Amino acid sequence: MTETSDAPAVSATTDPDCVFCRIAAGGVPADVVARTERVVAFRDLDPQAPLHVLVVPVDHHRDAPSLAAADPSLLAEVLATAARVAAELGDGQFRFVLNTGERAGQSVFHVHGHVLAGRPLQWPPG
Ligand code: AMP
Repeated sequence: MTETSDAPAVSATTDPDCVFCRIAAGGVPADVVARTERVVAFRDLDPQAPLHVLVVPVDHHRDAPSLAAADPSLLAEVLATAARVAAELGDGQFRFVLNTGERAGQSVFHVHGHVLAGRPLQWPPG
């Protein structure tokens, strides 16, 4: 894919106990499908659709509102990368999900956008 590099990303704002920080740094294996200097996209371990990719900033931010407050351009880059993954690995149509908080289904507290595509998706979601 374009704009990718094989070099693992390193961030000054990494949490050593965070699995997504460790994936971004190359310390935990993942099926990486896109990478920029500030964003990494990798396939979800438990896919809910034929295409299910997580897009994360290299920097550790707890959730989407925290990222939006701290670095709005990085949140825009996460979304741009999601769209690029959906276009390059699918037909460009996708659902982008940012679970925010435990009751909304967030289980990993490093912001990540789910890119879901490749099958018809129901609305409303459960
Ligand atoms: P959420 O419930 O929105 O916080 O989503 C967390 C997602 O991360 C789930 O869909 C998990 O399947 C996925 N996940 C957790 N650990 C890993 C991992 N090491 N590699 C890829 N996906 C993971």
